[in-house]
Amino acid sequence: MITNADIQEISGTAGNFSVKVLRRPRYVDEAKCTGCGVCSQYCPVTLPDPHNQYLSPKKAIDILYTQAIPSKYFVNPDYCLFLNRQECKQCTRACQTGAIDFDQKPEVAVYHVGAVILSAGFKQSDPARIKAYRCKDSPNIVTGLEFERISSASGPYMGKILRPSDSEKPGRIAFIQCAGSRGSASGNSYCSSVCCKYAVKDAIVALEHEPDLDITIFFMDMRMHGKGLESFYERAKESGIHFIRSRVSEVRRDPQTEDLILKYVTEDGSLHQDIFNLVVLPMGLEAPEGNFTLAKAAAVELNHHGFCRTGLFDPLFTSREGIYVAGGFRGPMPLPDSVMQASGTAACVTELLAPARGTLISEKTFIEERPVKQEPLRIGVFVCNCGKNIAGVVDVEDVKKYAATLPDVVVSTDNLYSCSEDTQVLIKETVVNEKLNRVVVAACTPRTHEPLFQETIREAGLNRCLVEMVNIRDQCSWVHAHEKEEATQKSKDLIRMAVAKARLIRSLDEPVIDVIPRGLVIGGGLAGMTAALSLAGQGLECYLVEKTAKLGGNLHNIHYTLEGENPQDYLKTIVDRVRNHGLIHVFMEAEIESVNGFVGNFQTVVKSGRGPEKKTVELQHGAIILATGAMAFRPDEYLYGKSGHVILQHELEERLASGSFVPTGDDTIVMIQCVGSRDDSHMYCSSICCSMAIKNALKIKEINPSANVYVLYRDMGTYGFHEAYYTRAREQGVVFIRYDRDKKPEVAEVDGRLRITIKDLLIDNDVVIHADLLALSTAIVPQRDDTLERVLAMPRSADGFLLESHVQLKPVDSYIDGIFICGMAHFPKPIDESIAQAKAAASKAGILLARGHVRVEPIVSSCDPDKCIGCGICEYFCPYNAIKMTKKGKLKKAEVIVAACKGCGVCASYCPARAISMGRFTDEQILAQIEAFGRN
Ligand SMILES: Cc1cc2nc3c(=O)[nH]c(=O)nc-3n(C[C@H](O)[C@H](O)[C@H](O)COP(=O)(O)OP(=O)(O)OC[C@H]3O[C@@H](n4cnc5c(N)ncnc54)[C@H](O)[C@@H]3O)c2cc1C
Ligand code: SF4
Ligand code: SF4
Repeated sequence: MITNADIQEISGTAGNFSVKVLRRPRYVDEAKCTGCGVCSQYCPVTLPDPHNQYLSPKKAIDILYTQAIPSKYFVNPDYCLFLNRQECKQCTRACQTGAIDFDQKPEVAVYHVGAVILSAGFKQSDPARIKAYRCKDSPNIVTGLEFERISSASGPYMGKILRPSDSEKPGRIAFIQCAGSRGSASGNSYCSSVCCKYAVKDAIVALEHEPDLDITIFFMDMRMHGKGLESFYERAKESGIHFIRSRVSEVRRDPQTEDLILKYVTEDGSLHQDIFNLVVLPMGLEAPEGNFTLAKAAAVELNHHGFCRTGLFDPLFTSREGIYVAGGFRGPMPLPDSVMQASGTAACVTELLAPARGTLISEKTFIEERPVKQEPLRIGVFVCNCGKNIAGVVDVEDVKKYAATLPDVVVSTDNLYSCSEDTQVLIKETVVNEKLNRVVVAACTPRTHEPLFQETIREAGLNRCLVEMVNIRDQCSWVHAHEKEEATQKSKDLIRMAVAKARLIRSLDEPVIDVIPRGLVIGGGLAGMTAALSLAGQGLECYLVEKTAKLGGNLHNIHYTLEGENPQDYLKTIVDRVRNHGLIHVFMEAEIESVNGFVGNFQTVVKSGRGPEKKTVELQHGAIILATGAMAFRPDEYLYGKSGHVILQHELEERLASGSFVPTGDDTIVMIQCVGSRDDSHMYCSSICCSMAIKNALKIKEINPSANVYVLYRDMGTYGFHEAYYTRAREQGVVFIRYDRDKKPEVAEVDGRLRITIKDLLIDNDVVIHADLLALSTAIVPQRDDTLERVLAMPRSADGFLLESHVQLKPVDSYIDGIFICGMAHFPKPIDESIAQAKAAASKAGILLARGHVRVEPIVSSCDPDKCIGCGICEYFCPYNAIKMTKKGKLKKAEVIVAACKGCGVCASYCPARAISMGRFTDEQILAQIEAFGRN
């Protein structure tokens, strides 16, 4: 990892680049610095901390933030006394490892690489540009980032919500949306995509910290597109956060009280004034100045907003071959999209460099595992503060002292962040120095963090299974946020139970299993075809199974795009490429009959074709990519299906594209948004329908500028750069009228025309529109396939879409190892996002297939053949087909297929002979936990 560095030039061509990098001096030898921080304690110079948004001080030698990687200190050359005046050197004297090195000079290094990924991120736009809010007048007008730091445990006020002017708790907080976005006066014309979401999140977090806060969010449209976010917004409303649809025209400081007076205009045109103690501006995101330097050095093109120029069908490609782009350098976007794009670019690189794959790998080596069986028990307990996340509720000091009193516990300590790099070092050192042979980490969820702690103790010479995690965050500080004593007591109970179990845990083996280097992609739409092509591009063979008679899915319904591209041309090209690629085997009109096996070793029976072409084959493959897509919801309201004048939005597109409907100047076309979306039937924003409506409205105006177009909407969801098309539609005379969820438009057919009544909130009166055509923007709902559901039993979210293993950080991994998800099967999304996610899924599957083996988690069940009576109950009940009865002599005995076993424990619970025990959850261990629970 090369930090503190700038790219100066990228020369060469795809597959063979030379990258010239300027490495600025850190003045600290990274190899020697242990990150102990003593230097910083002795440094006499303080400066405002940029990480804490300049709200607290830091030292001239410091670390960027607690979880910075690498966890190494650096000297700020603008403030250091020695570098500026040749005095001081306190840090040199304080550092025990001799890591301070003032002789370091800037260095230029040249690296030879085959491909480059640009992921240089975005920056928050400058609040001072919004003249009407006079941000410089008051310290109590803070940006969203400042507020994030204010409410953070590692922030300037240690997680207490205080206002900067007087460090008092603000009773009333206002969030003002679209600050720095969606308007040239405030900064940028586009929508920054993330600010609505993070404002609602910050408001909820603030309320969790201080339940009596009075919070109001002033907004224009709430843009909560994305999985689970609409429900999150509903939750915010239920928790008492006020939402006022308005434009805030002025923010003025009251010099007497330091409060802020807001003037705002609501939808009905009336002017209001209100007083708040703190104002938060969740600022929009924009291209940092560095983008221009980087783009010049890499010789790639930027768009007119200063972000990387990409194409709709090549979302991860820059204008220069071999150089790819992910995340904020491409434009403002939320976290899961950045993660998907990052994985997607990895697939692009792998495709480009496929022949070189695996040629530079060196296996990580571990020190030999310490045999602990004969050792007396020595347990170490590490309690995490998680900043204020845990420590804000649970009395960590008390819990730590309590843990020290438990049997066989020889070390009990606490850490600010147990997952930070420095804590891993500390855990390793403690294991070695204190000769620990069992470790208990009381922190957050094992689902995300257990592998980290397992790796840490393995690096210290212990078997991975000798660590137990206790979730005192989700199960204590979060669910009992307002019951501090109970949360602390529960933490103690859980730790006591974990220690009781830890006394009985033992070292377990991790079997290594070969992987069949072929993939199976289910669904031949845009995402499925993209994933198959990417796997094939990586040199990996794959099967593509499509249930209908043609490849392309929903892409067949898209005839033009907002960006002006031709989807049908692209569809033809990609179908040809799939059909003609030697490594892709396509099965059409195909149905999955059964899926057996486990990660790396699946057997899938596919029935395909019709009539004499019909065949059934069994495919052997190592990974599965699910790309089964989604479709437009067919509603039973607004006369859909009853009147020939009422159609769906994509049906309107079809008519406009084919010329079967040519709008005249007399025609009135009405569109209703959010039909079946964002209500009790489907509590999510379908993300793409607002852009589709704008696209069709603009197409109508292009064909006939005199045609009348009305869009009846709840919130216009044209996020990102699509905002420009919304503006263009208004400029071209498309009329937008808003309605509320509980006051939907009414549609009747009168004398062969439609009569649409809507309450116009601006004039507070009903408006009647006589329309010739009504296009409904309906929800996008998942494709459900009973057979596939039965054979794969994939978990789904409350919305019915396939569930990813972590909504933010693992958006393409499913809950089942070796199965990945992408495209609209995951959630509704536009073309470019489906392509990026399909590439990401192919990247993940490609890693598994190319590696050639998997390690099986030692959580699995095992059967004691001496106790097994051969009844076969376990085989019958195992939901993963992970148990086979095999003949051993005259008797049948249960045998576990370790790679298929998920450790669910069903077999163990049914076995009448108690012959089955679970790797890390034996009866003995669980009973010990129960007994410890009762020993309060
Ligand atoms: C009505 C509509 C209009 C849209 N308009 C736009 C637009 O204007 N601009 C834009 O950017 N995006 C638009 N989109 C989004 C765009 O269509 C998607 O991003 C993209 O096409 C998704 O591709 P996909 O492969 O994930 O899903 P799909 O296109 O749904 O493809 C899924 C495929 O899987 C197959 N399948 C399903 N179940 C099985 C099974 N069990 N076994 C085998 N095969 C199966 C289906 O038959 C289908 O071929 C629109 C989407 C819809 C629904
Ligand atoms: S280990 Fe978990 S609880 Fe501790 S800091 Fe990391 S995320 Fe927070
Ligand atoms: S029409 Fe679709 S994209 Fe627009 S707000 Fe409603 S659900 Fe979201």
